[in-house]
Amino acid sequence: MKKCLSFDDVLLVPKYSEICSRKEIDISSKLGDVTFSIPIISSPMDTVTETAMVTEMHNRGGLGIIHRYNSIRDQAFLVHECHGAHVGAAVGVSGDYIERATALVEAGANFLCVDIAHGHHALMKHALKILRNTFGYDIHIMAGNVATRDGYEDLARWGASSVRVGIGGGSICSTRIQTGHGMPTFQSVLECSSSEFSGEIPIIADGGIKTSGDIVKALAAGADFVMLGSLLAGTSESPGSVYSENGEQFKVYRGMASKDAQISWRGHTASVEGVSSSIPFKGSVGDSLEELCTGIRSGLSYSGCASIPVFQATNQLVLQTPAGAYESSAHILNRDK
Ligand code: IMP
Repeated sequence: MKKCLSFDDVLLVPKYSEICSRKEIDISSKLGDVTFSIPIISSPMDTVTETAMVTEMHNRGGLGIIHRYNSIRDQAFLVHECHGAHVGAAVGVSGDYIERATALVEAGANFLCVDIAHGHHALMKHALKILRNTFGYDIHIMAGNVATRDGYEDLARWGASSVRVGIGGGSICSTRIQTGHGMPTFQSVLECSSSEFSGEIPIIADGGIKTSGDIVKALAAGADFVMLGSLLAGTSESPGSVYSENGEQFKVYRGMASKDAQISWRGHTASVEGVSSSIPFKGSVGDSLEELCTGIRSGLSYSGCASIPVFQATNQLVLQTPAGAYESSAHILNRDK
């Protein structure tokens, strides 16, 4: 049986650097013809991305994808409200998805995201075919999620412009518990990036990214972008209201396949593969993004690299033992008093 690696299993080896300021480091990345100044996309989830998140992601150089867990009219309205910003919008692979995609494109979406839990599927193949027949290649179609290189390559062949990679790793995900299936996101990205499609079809590492260090490791493994849920949830720009408990402020962050989310978007539950949680209110997402991007730039400077492509070509990943992983954490906090 092969061993699969997670973010915490690996570290990057520091290398000789001539970079004197983090300002010298370019962390831009491309999706099709569009260059984003930061390699970050917000998840299409109803506690992460609606208009305010898209607008702030755009202002900070990233991309937001509006979730599909509402009526076509409501989702198209949210897209329309983003006026002029780059805006992504999610659709499924069955039911009203063509009508939805058409309304979203008309409302101004320039990135469609075919968003299903198990993207390496005949329904995805069919949906990509129909979407390409409808829109041609004028629109960027992101698709996913997949866990394997075979999945990534099939989606690329079926017409995806970029692919979300990662199954079962999300912080609110219980797919692996419920179904026994999944693969560590880091490993999935590493395998997809060895494909001849990588470089042509951007890889979006999605699920389980906890820190800016994990983003740097995802980029090192070959991701062109990361997609974030928990790191952007609980902010002023994420949907939902702040509530107080024992003097502390929180917001809800929930998996779209959680019981709560399923009841609110379809009125009943099918297979529950997510959880609902509350996370401490963090304030402006701009501050969170600033902190993450400082960490990414610092990460590239430890490898002596001034851009993501150079970093991807030269970084050196190593395995760490459990003792190494312990040493990598802020272990003074665990010391006996
Ligand atoms: P996070 O950044 O670790 O919080 O993971 C966010 C990602 O989890 C999303 O972009 C989706 O790919 C995935 N996801 C969202 N909702 C669910 C769910 O209910 N079950 C499993 N995965 C989910």
